[in-house]
Parts: sequence; structure tokens; C-alpha cells
Amino acid sequence: MSKAWDEDCDVLVVGSGGGALTGAYTAAREGLSVIVVEATDRFGGTTAYSGGGLWFPCNAVLRRAGDEDTLEDARTYFRAVVGERTPRDLQDAFLDNGAPLVDYLESDEDFGFMVYPWPDYFGSAPKASATGRHIMPLPLKPEELGPLRDVLRPPLGTDRAGQPLPDLVRGGQALIGRLLLALSKRASAELRPETVCDELVRTGDTVEGAVVGHRGRRYRIRARRGVLVASGGFERNAGMRARYGVPGQVRDAMGPAGNLGKAIQAGIDVGADIGLMSEAWWSPGITHPDGTSTFSLWFTGGIFVDGTGERFVNESWAYDRIGRVVIDRMNAGRLTLPFWMIYDDRDGVRPPVRSTSVPLGETRDYEDTGLWVSAGTLGELANKIGVPAAKLIATVARFNTFAESGTDEDFHRGDEPYDRSFADGASPLVPIETGPFHAAAFGLSDLGTKGGLRTDATARVLDTSGEVIKGLYAAGNSMAAVSGTVYPGGGNPIGSCMVFAHLAALDMVAGR
Ligand SMILES: Cc1cc2nc3c(=O)[nH]c(=O)nc-3n(C[C@H](O)[C@H](O)[C@H](O)COP(=O)(O)OP(=O)(O)OC[C@H]3O[C@@H](n4cnc5c(N)ncnc54)[C@H](O)[C@@H]3O)c2cc1C
Repeated sequence: MSKAWDEDCDVLVVGSGGGALTGAYTAAREGLSVIVVEATDRFGGTTAYSGGGLWFPCNAVLRRAGDEDTLEDARTYFRAVVGERTPRDLQDAFLDNGAPLVDYLESDEDFGFMVYPWPDYFGSAPKASATGRHIMPLPLKPEELGPLRDVLRPPLGTDRAGQPLPDLVRGGQALIGRLLLALSKRASAELRPETVCDELVRTGDTVEGAVVGHRGRRYRIRARRGVLVASGGFERNAGMRARYGVPGQVRDAMGPAGNLGKAIQAGIDVGADIGLMSEAWWSPGITHPDGTSTFSLWFTGGIFVDGTGERFVNESWAYDRIGRVVIDRMNAGRLTLPFWMIYDDRDGVRPPVRSTSVPLGETRDYEDTGLWVSAGTLGELANKIGVPAAKLIATVARFNTFAESGTDEDFHRGDEPYDRSFADGASPLVPIETGPFHAAAFGLSDLGTKGGLRTDATARVLDTSGEVIKGLYAAGNSMAAVSGTVYPGGGNPIGSCMVFAHLAALDMVAGR
């Protein structure tokens, strides 16, 4: 392949999730020419599947609603839960720059946000917020997006379960929709679907551009100010998962098919350092007849039991905390998949799971595949799912005493605000007493890997000796996450994608 450049731009952005498009928008708004390359035929990545929640402490939207949080309290909380797992200046960059980013976006009429109370995920940590530090984009009407809706990755219900598009564009759809709208008004930004970046071009200490491929044609793009790798994680790449020891399986990952880690690998190939490579944002996943286990939350009843018939976790914890307990127990040889949700018949045979990212299908399909099992007594149920009957009966009896007293002596379910958020503040301890009894199979799902290229606090990628690789930036799930090995609160993944992509773009605007 010729070493000549085929094209020039100021900023090349790899990927089109929340981070990538925020970086592209910032660079274009500040007058730079931008090319966005997206591997698949739709823009938006996992972000378009998401709730679009953003954890930005003390931002203007929260302030207008009367929030009296302080940045120091938010810092105390974040430090307490993330600890020393990631550099302090990286943590500070995230904490300090969320609110200014909201101001920056709100100064453009294409953006609008609303408060969406969502408690921090570690309610017992110092300065945890019971209402959260969480906002969401305002929904859009489809007609406001016009033809852009056709290039926006549809929600999971449509993409994976063939449901019709919803009447309103909300959550992550609205976030990506608003970014696409704003970008469509900037002539200096161009978005290219079905274009994969798998090679970076480094000369000396500088990344000068990249090689991209589109339908069999490979070409070289020079990026005068830099390349931003914001191409999500590598959760859909079985080889990389195995190499870096990421628990779980590709089929249970929530990211779209393009999240193969090719641009992360390209960064490694030009000398970038990496971090947190075995990490992901975890969740229990309800198992579907096609064998996939998908991100599930909002449990209005039920308990989880392992193969011994015992509870092993606070079922009302945030999904990542539950996922990590599942992984720890699997690693210790104390849990094999599936594990089971046990519940009674008060709401019928369908499990008390109010939010399944992929909609549940017909009850019969789950029953026919042995994923949902029912029996007249707990003993019979235990026999059907292969757990010791006496143990399951004792586990449920003990849990029912907790439900009666209102105190979970084993796992403290209901002690923290998040635990109670899906029960309108009431106790989430619902007794299991009305037969027939049911069990639903669960596996381990992930919302995407969160290990990647190591960066400084301006999202500049570092090499293995800690030096900046000029012209190379990373954000979102392509960078070693600022949150390390925890998920501090709803909105951290996308919030950190957006902040670091914005900082990267501003650094490129300042020139190098
Ligand atoms: C159902 C669900 C709900 C969620 N809700 C929230 C929430 O409310 N708040 C929150 O903070 N987080 C949420 N998350 C997590 C969050 O969505 C992701 O962590 C985040 O969106 C990842 O953003 P990203 O920009 O790093 O990558 P993505 O949004 O996944 O985008 C990556 C894009 O890059 C493309 N790409 C990959 N490789 C290449 C390449 N080599 N060349 C070109 N393009 C490439 C991919 O095709 C993809 O389109 C949720 C996740 C799920 C599944």
C-alpha cells in the first residue's frame, strides 16, 4: 500500500458512540475539520442502546432543580469507591469537567437535559447521593431527527428482538440523535459508516493518521491534530476476551457487533500502554431461549440462589456489584451458571424483572427450553432445577423471616437507597410464600469491556514508559476506565466517555 496520504483532516474520530460524537462535535464546533469513521452501518454504538444517563456532579440541570451537592462531596464519594485503582488526576478530570461540559452542550439549542433521580451505587460510602448525580437527554420526536433516524442504531428491542421503533426517541437514542443533529449542521464534520480503522500510522513520537477500510478499499487519512479512538470496548471479540481474561462470553455481551477492539489493538501496535484489560461493566443477565443472557435490573421480588440452593448476594444491589459477586464465586469454584431467581406466584409465572434490556419473549418458549421452571412446592422446584431441596426450603424460610422483620441479616438487602429505588422507597424484601413456585435461569452479562489504552488526564494516550504518544487520544470503553474496577453510579460509563472525548478535542483545538 502506498505511503502517501489519501485524505487530510484535522481530527479523525474512530467510533460513533457517546464519546466519539461528543469529541467530533467539540472539534467541529471549534472550527476543526473532522472525519468520523464507524465500523457498522449505523451510528451510536452501545450508547444508542443505553438509557443515556449521565453522572455529572453539580451540573446546571441538577442545580436548576435545587440540588445542593458539592463537588467536594462528589469527590469524596468517588475516591471512596474507586480508591487508588486509577490516577487521582484522571479522577479529578472526570469530576471537574462534567458540569462544564453540560454548560457547553446546553449553549447549543440542539441539546437539552432533564434530571432523572438515580441513587449512587454504593449507598453506604461517604457522601453517596441518595438521589444521584444523574441527568438524561430530553427525548426527541422522530420528526425532529428526520432522516437521521435511519442512520441511528435502533434500540435493543428493535435491533435484537425485531420490535417496531418506539414513538419517542429517548435515552441513549436521544443522546446520539441530538449529537447527530448538531453535527449535521457543521459542514466541517463528515460521518462515514461501514468504515473500520485497524491501523494507526506513527512516525517518531507522533501518530499522524490512520489506515481505514471501507468495503474492501483501504486508504490512509492524515489527521493533522490527532486521532481520537472512541470505538467502545472489545466485548464482541472472543480472542481478545480470552487473551486478557475477561470473564463471560461474547454472546452475553450487550455491545453491538462492531465492538471488536480493532482500534484498541491498533493503539497497542503503535506502543500504547493498556490497563484494566480484564474489566467490564457487569450485570446479571436473564437467559433467553436463544442462549443469550442479557443485562437485567429492577427486580420487584425473588431471590437468587446458587447450585447449593443458598442465597449469595444482595439481589437489589446495582447490577455491576451483583456481577462481580457472581464472578468471584465462579472463580472460587462456588458457583456455576446458570444461577436461579426463585419467586412465587403473586405476579404469575413471568419473573419479577421489570427492566430487561432485550424484551422477554413468549412464556412458553422459556418453559420449553427449561429456563423457567414451575412446581407446586419448593421441594419439587428444587428437584427440577437440580438444587438440594432441604437447602432451598430452608433458604426461602430464612428469607421470609427477613421479609417479615424488614431486615436482611445475611446480605442487607434494602439497607441502601439504590436497593429501595425500585420499590418506591419501601423494603425490597418480598416474601416467597404463594405457590406455585417458580425459578428463572440467569447468566453473567456485560455492558461492555472497560479496559483499554492508558491515558493522561487530557485523554492523551501514554506509551509503556508513561510518555505521551502525540496525536493519539482515547475515550470511553477504549480507554482504561477512570472508574477502575467499580461502577460508582448510573451514568458513569457514558459520562466518562463524553468528558474525556471533549477534553481530547479541546486539546486538539489548542494544537499540538
Ligand atoms: C441496555 C444498556 C443500558 C445502558 N445504560 C447506560 C446509562 O444509562 N448510562 C451510562 O453511562 N451507561 C449505560 N450503559 C453503558 C454504556 O452504554 C456504554 O458503556 C457506553 O455507551 C460505551 O460508549 P463508547 O462510546 O465507549 O462505545 P460505543 O457506544 O459502544 O460505541 C463504539 C462504536 O465504535 C464502533 N467501532 C468499534 N471499532 C471500530 C473501528 N475499529 N473502527 C470504526 N468504528 C469502530 C462500534 O461499531 C460502535 O458503534 C448501558 C449499556 C446498555 C447495554
